[in-house]
Amino acid sequence: MNAVDMLFKRRETTPVRCGEVIIGGESPVSIQTMTTTDTRDVQKTTAEIQEAVEAGADIVRVAVPDKEAAEAIASIKRQVKCPIVADIHYDYRLAIMALENGADKVRVNPGNIGGPENLLAVAMKAKERGAAIRIGVNSGSVPKDLIARYGSPTPEAIVEAAKRTLDFLEDHQATGIVLSLKSSSVPDTVRAYALMAKETKWPFHIGITEAGPGIPGIIKSTAGIASLLTIGIGDTVRVSLTGSCVEEVRTAQDILQAVGVSSFGPNVISCPTCGRTQVDLMPVAQEIARKVRGLKIPMTIAVMGCPVNGPGEAREADVGIACGRDGGILFSHGKVVGSVRSGDMVSALMNLIHEEIQRRKT
Ligand code: SF4
Repeated sequence: MNAVDMLFKRRETTPVRCGEVIIGGESPVSIQTMTTTDTRDVQKTTAEIQEAVEAGADIVRVAVPDKEAAEAIASIKRQVKCPIVADIHYDYRLAIMALENGADKVRVNPGNIGGPENLLAVAMKAKERGAAIRIGVNSGSVPKDLIARYGSPTPEAIVEAAKRTLDFLEDHQATGIVLSLKSSSVPDTVRAYALMAKETKWPFHIGITEAGPGIPGIIKSTAGIASLLTIGIGDTVRVSLTGSCVEEVRTAQDILQAVGVSSFGPNVISCPTCGRTQVDLMPVAQEIARKVRGLKIPMTIAVMGCPVNGPGEAREADVGIACGRDGGILFSHGKVVGSVRSGDMVSALMNLIHEEIQRRKT
């Protein structure tokens, strides 16, 4: 298959159930995030999960560092509707306990769970409970013999480590497996997933681990996740930022929407401005983008800076404005529907947006 044929052709995968959400198969790419609260604080954790779900999270992961946190999952599950993933390191008994308390999925790192027998015990408990298990291999958990062979945790070494674990679990009839292969290097992550895609039909959880804070973190995550989605890889996504759950979820939505994999709400296009711009366009575009954030109806909104090239783009959009010195011309579905003075541009365009929403609803 050549590069063009591969574009956006989703990899075939075995669907895996995670509570009410199906990961892989024909299901939409789901969005995950992880809480920042102490899981033992059920009230705070539940509040953060609900905030994430309102922002659009399909699945939420919580850290389970001890027995109390594993037991808290039962109370959390009673109060939230989304599937809960328990994130476990070191002690496989916590994973078993989390599953017994209703976790819909556990995430374990085969490199730090105390050996294959412990991993198998977790996988068998997940199978018994109808839950999923994510095998998270990362560059820090590649076994020593593979590091010695490859010289460093290369994508090939990560894939071989993952295959070794997967073969072992499949030999023991484990089911409900989701895989992640992470490195903080974008090229290594993309290469590892692309290599692994040839080896298995289990769905992939994708993301760039420890991407960091702010814009650099968003860019790194976007580069990795978008590259993978473009070649059809990725069944569930987590943007991993040093920030809030809501920020992670919104960034994931923006990536999925930009790549054309899913649609969550309005797409605001605005021109970069140039020497022809006759208004201070940035506050207008920013205000519109802020006001439409969270509206669940997909539509294209154009905010353009001049009456020369602006009308072309504004006509192509569902609704738009081409701004001039003293105001703007309003467009709806390619037609001029009015003009407005400078101070009223945001409110006039918002009125058009709300009219468009009403039209879609009827
Ligand atoms: S739409 Fe007009 S103002 Fe905006 S970049 Fe194009 S030419 Fe410049």
